[in-house]
Amino acid sequence: MSDVLHQLNHVLSEIEACAAGRKPPSLIAVSKTFDTAQIEPVLVAGHRQFGENRVQESQKKWPSLREKYPDVILHLIGPLQSNKVADAVALFDVIHTVDRPKIAKALASEMIRQDRSLDVFVQINTGGEAQKAGVRVEDADVFIENCRSQYGLRVVGLMCIPPIEGVAADHFKLLSEIAKRHDLADLSMGMSSDYRQAIDAGATFVRLGSAVFGSRDKNLPIS
Ligand SMILES: *Cc1c(COP(=O)(O)O)cnc(C)c1O
Repeated sequence: MSDVLHQLNHVLSEIEACAAGRKPPSLIAVSKTFDTAQIEPVLVAGHRQFGENRVQESQKKWPSLREKYPDVILHLIGPLQSNKVADAVALFDVIHTVDRPKIAKALASEMIRQDRSLDVFVQINTGGEAQKAGVRVEDADVFIENCRSQYGLRVVGLMCIPPIEGVAADHFKLLSEIAKRHDLADLSMGMSSDYRQAIDAGATFVRLGSAVFGSRDKNLPIS
């Protein structure tokens, strides 16, 4: 068996073990920087949920893979710029990174225009980091409410990327508390380094790149 399939099977059993009898979270295999030849074995093995962080890179890779595997579910997990919203709505099934009114509004009108209805997550900047995307914690309640009632987006949950420093579990717990206040069922949290803590805190989607595909060092981003 190839390395990637070994790793895929390994993380799937780890995820199930961490869930400890509860429903395990869905695995989003984060395929950014990996090319179609590296992704396809994972599709052949039957996996269907993938994450990418750039719209342009995804447009080069996924239309051809989608033709062969039409039931793929593609998640956008990277920041979205307004000039990419139309392309993102056309290509992706789920957007994890809604974090400002301009993008929320643009997504809503583009979904109507294209007659497509995507699930969305609101990204929360739980660490209050200046350089990081996401709504500030103190603005989260109003923004989530506006996404639903003002823009009519189908908000299914919240997403966060904890700061590199500090205790990831604290951020997962905070995200879960905000979600509970808004009756949001889904939590997109946990990457290769911290997915076990995320599952303990109730993640329903974990986003794993290197744990599935290996190190990205040799795979420079496709621009
Ligand atoms: C790259 C990326 C991941 C996966 O990271 P790994 O550490 O390789 O598991 C998860 N979430 C987001 C938002 C990413 O950009």
